Amino acid sequence: MASPLLKESAAKLKKAIPLMLKHQIPTTPTNYALWYAYVGENTPSLNQHLDKVVSQYNTCPPSQSERLYQEFLSDPVELDLIDMRQNLDAMVTELSQSIKDTNLDATQFQSKIDNNYNKLNKIEHEGFTIEEVLTVVKNLVQDSNEIRISAKHFSEQLAKAQSEIDSLKHQLKQSEHEMLFDALTHSLNRRAFNNDLKAIIEQQPQGLCLIIADIDHFKDFNDTYGHQLGDQVLKAVSKRLQESCQDGAKLYRFGGEEFALIVPKSAIRRARHLAESMRRSLEKLLLKDKRKGTAINNINASFGVAEYKLNDSDSALIERADKQLYEAKRLGRNRVMPL
Ligand code: GH3
Ligand code: MG
Ligand code: MG
Repeated sequence: MASPLLKESAAKLKKAIPLMLKHQIPTTPTNYALWYAYVGENTPSLNQHLDKVVSQYNTCPPSQSERLYQEFLSDPVELDLIDMRQNLDAMVTELSQSIKDTNLDATQFQSKIDNNYNKLNKIEHEGFTIEEVLTVVKNLVQDSNEIRISAKHFSEQLAKAQSEIDSLKHQLKQSEHEMLFDALTHSLNRRAFNNDLKAIIEQQPQGLCLIIADIDHFKDFNDTYGHQLGDQVLKAVSKRLQESCQDGAKLYRFGGEEFALIVPKSAIRRARHLAESMRRSLEKLLLKDKRKGTAINNINASFGVAEYKLNDSDSALIERADKQLYEAKRLGRNRVMPL
């Protein structure tokens, strides 16, 4: 939709151009600005002067235009606005001209091709002299050359547009990626989790299981080793969980030090089993504190598992998995619940 400014500008244009034509005013930037301001009716004294000039000369001679322009329109703010509008208008004009050119070219080519085609038909059906045939051929070569040049121009324009589209697509892909992936761990993020869980519940929720994993005493870890090493742990945990994914399970960073796994078409027993193998795998995780040169081998996590029940909402399923996770914490951490 056109902006109000552009609409206003277009409305003034519609008034200004017929006036300029009527008084035979050349369409120079100066005249353009002058008549634009005239139809805007914001500067009454300019209108009075211009009316006077027109009644005296039956037009507005360039010297008068220049004088009026200097006198009434050289306010920098106003000039900026006019400049901006002129740029806008020039852009619109250029665009519509290039569309017209393309259409015109296409129409002309079509008629040239038709014309040559008719002549070729005649050659076939009527007796032609060799000179006449040569003329048709010469015309054909010339026309096709023109077509070739214009087609080349057109294909260059197309290539340019294509490369712009490609770069836009690339940008789009990148922002889509940023929207769905977590910057620290590169695993899918909470937004992706919400989308995927909703979709599975809508489409094929039978046997769907949800696992939520939460790193144990991670606050203490940060306090002891620092936030930076904490980040390294999150990356390592995410990688380890990703490697342990089975049965079509998908890993997400659910929040700070929590991860979620959506396990479609499974069963609580199988999902619990998967969580247990993940828990054990994390137990074995070994990291090095480079600053102190010591090994870190005390990363544990607790797991809560829940299975989809008929007419479950996504939040009901999450809540049940969360409850189980809470139980795992309460019973001493580093375990999977339900047993
Ligand atoms: P619990 O065993 O009960 O889960 O204890 P906890 O300390 O792990 O849980 P709590 O919820 O008290 O603290 C979570 C901690 O996780 C606190 C927060 O600083 C840390 N954390 C969350 N996100 C990040 C992160 O991106 N990087 C780092 N380094 N730490 C994070
Ligand atoms: Mg937590
Ligand atoms: Mg925790």
